[in-house]
Amino acid sequence: MPEIALCSKCGENPRADEDSNNPWCKPCRAKYQKEYQDSKVTRATAKGFAAGVDAAVKTLAHEFGRGGSAMVSCQEVAAVIERAPRPRMPEQA
Ligand SMILES: [Zn+2]
Repeated sequence: MPEIALCSKCGENPRADEDSNNPWCKPCRAKYQKEYQDSKVTRATAKGFAAGVDAAVKTLAHEFGRGGSAMVSCQEVAAVIERAPRPRMPEQA
């Protein structure tokens, strides 16, 4: 009787495909795919967040740069931040 090759990840289930180079069982493949897809969303969210922070910093630097060497109070700084234009999402290529 031929020996059944077990999943190299969990070591419990038979491999999903004996002829494939992928040594995992179906549940391990499915779990990996789910985690990979979830991490894609997380990475895209983090990338968008970082781009938004960069855009906000650039906008605020521009707003304060227009003030030249003026002396301003903290309340005025807060007001400039409040009324600064919100960065717009760049066009997707
Ligand atoms: Zn497995």
